[in-house]
Amino acid sequence: MNVPLLDLKAQYAGIRNEIREAMDRVCDSQHFILGPEVKSFEEEIARYCGVKYAVGVTSGSDALIAALMAYNIGRGDEVITTTFSFFATAGAIARVGARPVFVDIDPDTFNLDIPAALKKITPRTKAIIPVHLFGRCVNIDPLVKTGIPVIEDAAQAIGAKDDRGRQAGSVGPVGCFSFFPSKNLGAFGDGGLITTNDEKLADLLQVLRGHGAKPKYFHKIIGGNFRLDTLQAAILRVKLKYLDRWSAGRRANADRYRAFFKEVGRVTLPQDVPGHIYNQFVIRAPNRDRLQEHLKEKGIGTEIYYPVPLHLQECFKELGHKKGDFPKAEAVAADSLALPIYSELTESQQKYVVDHIRAFYA
Ligand SMILES: *Cc1c(COP(=O)(O)O)cnc(C)c1O
Repeated sequence: MNVPLLDLKAQYAGIRNEIREAMDRVCDSQHFILGPEVKSFEEEIARYCGVKYAVGVTSGSDALIAALMAYNIGRGDEVITTTFSFFATAGAIARVGARPVFVDIDPDTFNLDIPAALKKITPRTKAIIPVHLFGRCVNIDPLVKTGIPVIEDAAQAIGAKDDRGRQAGSVGPVGCFSFFPSKNLGAFGDGGLITTNDEKLADLLQVLRGHGAKPKYFHKIIGGNFRLDTLQAAILRVKLKYLDRWSAGRRANADRYRAFFKEVGRVTLPQDVPGHIYNQFVIRAPNRDRLQEHLKEKGIGTEIYYPVPLHLQECFKELGHKKGDFPKAEAVAADSLALPIYSELTESQQKYVVDHIRAFYA
């Protein structure tokens, strides 16, 4: 049996005609930059996320960069974030010239340790970027209360809800999303989005994504080309309608894993919380590397998210961190493994995965 980590072909098979119609609509219009498709998508997704405004951008990485630019963050500024995330979270901070200030994680949630983050605040702290990692929301209320801008990295968490039922990207002043194909709402290429309830911020972000021009060819500020592709917006409008169904499928698969894993004592499963949308189903497993190799031999795709915490990345050497600085994140980086969880996964595929994990530890 073959069980890929993610099978987007299965998803596409169910929506092929609708997607092709949407793409034809854009091709026939020959209108490829912004326009009504992007505007409609922004309205639809703002409604979905429970915010007033959404601004489509080129990628999740650029969403973070544009949000930091909107707060005028740069050289000499500090931005607090988790050391356990995809690189873009910290890369964006460094790209605008600011200093990433890393914080360890709560190993039960894989998310930013909020009390530890609060302790890192200095007069130079200009923003805090919590990440709703793997599709599980972190409750950011204590961060928002500080009055420091909180930029939610919700790249992996579209549709996820926090412990008070609030949508990822709608709690802080600004939320950043990615439509990278492996995210729960994936484009046919790159794409991203910024959400906010602040009209002024939304206007500023719209100006920033078009090189800071307002009106055209008049630049009071420097922005970039951060525009979401019209073709991607048309595709995403189709996929957004199915998102809750797909997320429910992921949650059902997580429940099924929990049942199958009952007699496998060696691994730790992710905590089951109602708002989790399982962009990844990440277990902690002793002998992780050998387990991954074993599963690969059996045709089972897995991935390590992420093998090196951000504070130990070579490019951040100048920050002066060393092994042991953030032991919880380091421990998770050493023994966590993402299993297939996509919505179209079958019961027999899941059973096959768990059977081979059980056999490995037997
Ligand atoms: C994917 C991701 C990003 C970056 O999104 P891109 O669209 O790939 O640029 C940022 N942060 C996190 C946590 C991500 O998972």
